[in-house]
Amino acid sequence: MTFKELNLRPEILRALESKGYTSPTPIQAKAIPPVLEKRDVLAGAQTGTGKTAAFALPVLELLAQKGKTQKNPRVLVLTPTRELAAQVGENFELYGKNLPYHTETIFGGVKINPQIQRLREGCDVLVATPGRLLDHLQQGTINLKEIGIFILDEADRMLDMGFIRDIQKVIKALPSRRQNLMFSATYSKEIKKLCGELLHKPVEVEVRKGNQTADKIEQLAYAIEKNQKRHLLAHLIKEESWYQVLVFVRTKHGANRLAKQLTKGGIPSSAIHGDKSQGARLRALKEFKEGDLQALIATNVAARGLDLQGLSHVVNFDLPQMAEDYVHRIGRTGRAGESGLAVTFITPDDKAQLRTIEKLIGQSVPFGKAESFVPVIQETTQGGRPMGQQQSQGRPERQGQQRGRRPSANRGPSDRNSPGEERSHSSRRSAGGNGQRRRKQR
Ligand code: AMP
Repeated sequence: MTFKELNLRPEILRALESKGYTSPTPIQAKAIPPVLEKRDVLAGAQTGTGKTAAFALPVLELLAQKGKTQKNPRVLVLTPTRELAAQVGENFELYGKNLPYHTETIFGGVKINPQIQRLREGCDVLVATPGRLLDHLQQGTINLKEIGIFILDEADRMLDMGFIRDIQKVIKALPSRRQNLMFSATYSKEIKKLCGELLHKPVEVEVRKGNQTADKIEQLAYAIEKNQKRHLLAHLIKEESWYQVLVFVRTKHGANRLAKQLTKGGIPSSAIHGDKSQGARLRALKEFKEGDLQALIATNVAARGLDLQGLSHVVNFDLPQMAEDYVHRIGRTGRAGESGLAVTFITPDDKAQLRTIEKLIGQSVPFGKAESFVPVIQETTQGGRPMGQQQSQGRPERQGQQRGRRPSANRGPSDRNSPGEERSHSSRRSAGGNGQRRRKQR
């Protein structure tokens, strides 16, 4: 299928062409037609499937069909995080660059006055996080009375983050006659309830069943003691020549510490979490996207919805507390048809939670072994060995070890999966075509 067959106007097709997109992703092929028919849509798709364009393209087409730019916004997109709001806003600008419509993005953590100024100048599409949007509504600096299309992006995450009341308040400020689109990676009882409240006879589109993970993502677990995690991480990054990795940790403090340790060990890293200013978060994201950082260490909330195109590796350094977050996290890799590797560290305490995750995703995560990894016996606190340098246990250093080799997933004695599931990694050595990419010299 081509984008042209989806009845998008030449201005939009030209923008897609300049991005190098030749054909729609499955969620785009499924969602664009009903959105163009002005139906309400419930879309089951996670970040990485091309879901933003799945709503942005037909919405721009519908705007163009109505013509003329407007002072008050006609389209509202609500997103759970600031970073996602910024990305969605950029996407609207990009896909709509040949059209006369203007997108404004508003989120918290930055001064409100410049936003008020910009809103006064008018926009057609408004992308917002709930809290800041409500601030503007309370101050009377935004008028939502002309919203004809409302999009709730990453609805499941919105609910996880406790935004349900805010969403309901926003909905009350909208005209009752409008088209609604809701995107969610997972379906829970709460999501279904919200669907019932928000959507009118929705067309349901899905790129995969329920809570399953993206097909192209290879998953691998490593059984590891807690105090060995950072050593194994540094080992994998270096020995497997990972170009870049997004690492999920549980706490803000843990994120800062790991970023420092990795940087010290020669892996340029930065932490991204809720205590960092918006500016610092965006800066880290930019540096990562530009290839100046090799590892981005993130807490759950901070990493939500980040558009990190072509990311080849994700590591669950700490397991998520909510099983659904596993699906979201590993969705950072294997984006839009590319393949990726999601590695999860499992300590003895994590086994029950891993089983919960496996139940949710409907598959077991195979265990791998990093062949040349020798656990560090003694942790040094101050002035110790540099990070990632393992203490020799008499195992000879391999000669001429091939760079970028994938970890062996041969079953270890503690592995729980049945034999015959042995995994070959040679097929996707340079995940996303990035494994070999050269980092920019600083
Ligand atoms: P999203 O799921 O919206 O976060 O999109 C994932 C990534 O895929 C983004 O970087 C998009 O720019 C990219 N993308 C979206 N649509 C396409 C397409 N039709 N072909 C190739 N890449 C795409």
